[in-house]
Amino acid sequence: MKSNGGIDAKNIEAFHTYSIVQASSILQTDTDFGLDDLKVESKRLEFGSNELKGEGGISPFKILLRQFSNLLVFVLIGASVLSYVVKDYAEGSVLFIIVILNSAVGFFQDFKAEKTVESLRKLTSPLSDVQRNGTIEHIPTSELVPGDILFLKSGDIIGADCLLIETLGFETDEALLTGESMPVAKFTDTIDNVDQPLAERKNIGFASTIVTKGRAKGIVFSTGMNTELGKIASQLMDMSSAKDKKKTRLQVSLNRMSVYLLIFAIALVILVFGVNKFNIDAEVLIYAISLAIAVIPEGLLAVLTLTMALGVRRLSKEKALVRKLNSLEVLGSITDICSDKTGTLTQSKMVLVKAWIPHEGCYEISGIGFEPVGQVFKPSIDQDFSPSAPLTKFTKSFNLLARISALCNVSDVKKDPESGDWVGIGDPTEIALQVFSMKVGLGKTDLVRGSDGSTWNLISEFPFDSSIKRMSTLYANGSLKLNVFTKGATERVVELCSRILINGEVVEISTNELQSLLDPQIENLAQNGLRVISLAYNEIPVPENLSGHSWDREYIESGLIYVGLVGIYDPPRPESLASVQKCFKAGIKVHMLTGDHPATATSIAKQVGIIPNDEAFMDGSFKDKHGSHMATVGSMVMTASQFDALTVDEVDRMPDLPNVIARCTPETKVNLINALHRRNRIVAMTGDGVNDSPSLKISDVGISMGITGSDVAKQASSIILTDDNFATIVGAIAEGRRLFTNIGKFIRCLIGANIAELVTLVVGLAFIDSSGHTVFPLSPVAILTNNLITATPPAMALGSELAPSDNMDLPPRDTKSGLFTVEVLSDIVIQGLFMGLLSIFSFYLVLDVFGDGNRGYECNKAYSPSCDAVFRARATTFTLLTILLMVFGYSCRDPRRQTCSYEKIKNIRQNAFLFHSFWIVIVITILCVYIPGLNRDVFKHSPITWEWAIVIISILVYLLGDALYKFIKLFIF
Ligand code: ADP
Ligand code: MG
Repeated sequence: MKSNGGIDAKNIEAFHTYSIVQASSILQTDTDFGLDDLKVESKRLEFGSNELKGEGGISPFKILLRQFSNLLVFVLIGASVLSYVVKDYAEGSVLFIIVILNSAVGFFQDFKAEKTVESLRKLTSPLSDVQRNGTIEHIPTSELVPGDILFLKSGDIIGADCLLIETLGFETDEALLTGESMPVAKFTDTIDNVDQPLAERKNIGFASTIVTKGRAKGIVFSTGMNTELGKIASQLMDMSSAKDKKKTRLQVSLNRMSVYLLIFAIALVILVFGVNKFNIDAEVLIYAISLAIAVIPEGLLAVLTLTMALGVRRLSKEKALVRKLNSLEVLGSITDICSDKTGTLTQSKMVLVKAWIPHEGCYEISGIGFEPVGQVFKPSIDQDFSPSAPLTKFTKSFNLLARISALCNVSDVKKDPESGDWVGIGDPTEIALQVFSMKVGLGKTDLVRGSDGSTWNLISEFPFDSSIKRMSTLYANGSLKLNVFTKGATERVVELCSRILINGEVVEISTNELQSLLDPQIENLAQNGLRVISLAYNEIPVPENLSGHSWDREYIESGLIYVGLVGIYDPPRPESLASVQKCFKAGIKVHMLTGDHPATATSIAKQVGIIPNDEAFMDGSFKDKHGSHMATVGSMVMTASQFDALTVDEVDRMPDLPNVIARCTPETKVNLINALHRRNRIVAMTGDGVNDSPSLKISDVGISMGITGSDVAKQASSIILTDDNFATIVGAIAEGRRLFTNIGKFIRCLIGANIAELVTLVVGLAFIDSSGHTVFPLSPVAILTNNLITATPPAMALGSELAPSDNMDLPPRDTKSGLFTVEVLSDIVIQGLFMGLLSIFSFYLVLDVFGDGNRGYECNKAYSPSCDAVFRARATTFTLLTILLMVFGYSCRDPRRQTCSYEKIKNIRQNAFLFHSFWIVIVITILCVYIPGLNRDVFKHSPITWEWAIVIISILVYLLGDALYKFIKLFIF
């Protein structure tokens, strides 16, 4: 076997047959040091990035093609060709320019939207822990290269195919690859058979499979398309791209509306033909086509997509990454947030401040942060507040407490060599415990080095899981016995204990006795918001074949000896209280779901304002008959076991679902969401653990934690919080509401404008000239120009409007009525009708009332002196309609409040995009009316003078009508 660094297909096939030494020499890596930057770079050049081909990447060409795959564009091109055929070159060219402009606008909108979504996709892609340059680095999974030393833990999605070199209770779910639905236990033993089926390669971790249990270390040997998944990627890619292309609900409903409008437009075309007695010449045809185009709000989907993409980008800056666009629409209508406590409402910078040992009493530990500097005090029994001098010698029990804290622990606390700061990696609870042990000189690194006279070797580990709420490790220390160390929620540890350590002596005790001994202590600590953890140990005989022994968790976790408990302080985040209050104001209920003790949960819930800060409901009824700390049914605080014990009927009869559920398990989360759904509530649920996926999936918006969350939870969620902060959820909801309000605004604006155009053009069909033909109130080019400049720009501008000041003061939007509420429809129809009638009325005024009524001859085709009145009337209508639609854009800024209020006029430039499109459109309009040649030959209208009076008066009339309409609306909606 050549080890020239080049890896051919055969080598990749055979990695399960290699030993660690072989594998690391082939891959030129070192299992302790990892790769260095130089090697990483050269390998990246050789193997490319760790991505499946066709994944992501945007193709401008495809987007461009999409612009032309639109039926309307073909119609327009057809119209332009038609103009050339009838030798109307000017009109043909303008139509052509309009096609190009339309596609260009569409292209840039689409391109920008896709680019935003693409950059976010990268942000939400998973990270991996690797050993590089001798330290552990946290890198995007796409940057893995062959030879990387990969660390895996439960909840991870494996980033690349790797040969496992260390495993600890490691199991993976390979359903994706092998179809096997049960988790597979993995080992490090090499396999001889080169052709071993994938499912039997127990020493390989496959890319994209999920770690369901334990930890492992592996050497990456293939990445990207070379992985086993890459080989079947083409099939998978079809699946995933089909899923990604799924349109959101809004997009679907707007799509459907576009189809209706298309049918309507075809009907209109037939109407135009009919009015012209099916005497269809090129002019009539082009007019009909232009009319149809004016009716269809072709910019709507593009504006919607872009608005949402910009919303997604804005949210990402505010630390919420949107994985599914659909959730953006739902966010604004959330009625209930179910939030984790630890790390989301609290800071998760945990510090162990108290310890309690039977017959010794309470200890206090000083020192904040992760720096392991602090002292232990023992308050005298009667004077709690005057601590004595710091202790220098500790009892046997206290030392054991510290040792369990250090060794039943997978966290890592160390000083960062560069910044000099102390950092903790791992679960915050465990970091707090580790720091505590280090303060008394019994940290894990000290112990493993032998600081207490024995060397400690990890034999097996039974990880923490939020449904069992405890964790155990098994250590050998060279003696004849193995040590079991267990820590966890008190009742979950107590149920395993049959003995207790008192003054260095092991004494028998019953579970009930032990529990009642501890209850007052727990209550004492928990009432102050401390998280309580109990610690226990045991000694068991060494089995004959230690290295090959498989350990049974039930056996390990039985007959334990209780040692003591500790209290860990985890203060609420400073912004939590204000955010919770904001939710109440916005009609959103906040539920706190925590694995902690009910008393701890209650204390924190009060501090962040989830339950009122009075003692009324904390009466005797708060304790159940065992005297333990539990809430009564129907109160604001319940334990998961109480809640789960209720029947569906009982839950549905509760006037309110609990605000706090303590000792919560992942299943309880699912139960609560179901109960909320039966009440037609829209639920946002947070989750971080491996088994939170079911609740994240069934909630309306699943939110996972970017820092502490597992890959699995992230994949099941629709939003990832990069700062794990509750306040971010509330910010995202505000943004969701703003977006939805803005979508309502630009939909009014776009469709209202289309109605106005439609009314003008259809009523205009009534003007017949002496030859019996209709006199068009606007030429086709004028229609298309008006449509181009008045539709998309103000709509885009409205999509970026700031949130209204009462954004978070109103109750959540009712989702049943959808986008087109009665109010929206009424705004569109009444305003559109009003503007359309005003426009066509101006045509009538100039032509028939103030003009001579001479409708000329063949004025649709070209100018002749007899067409003078018609041409001026057209210019008036064009000017009026164009300006009206821009004013309408301003009216849509706030569908409820007056357009011309003092405040609104003062803020006329607040939306810069809207303001600039307003005056630019007016300039374009004036150019179209006054540039010689362009006006008569292309737009088929003439410059106007006194007609401006009609334009201005009509605008004032519109503003008056708009004011009246909004005033009346106050009483109706
Ligand atoms: P939360 O919902 O607040 O995050 P968890 O499910 O993490 O709650 O924890 C629930 C309980 O499990 C805690 O109150 C504590 O007693 C115990 N616990 C938490 N973390 C650990 C751990 N790493 N090892 C053992 N027990 C733990
Ligand atoms: Mg937790």
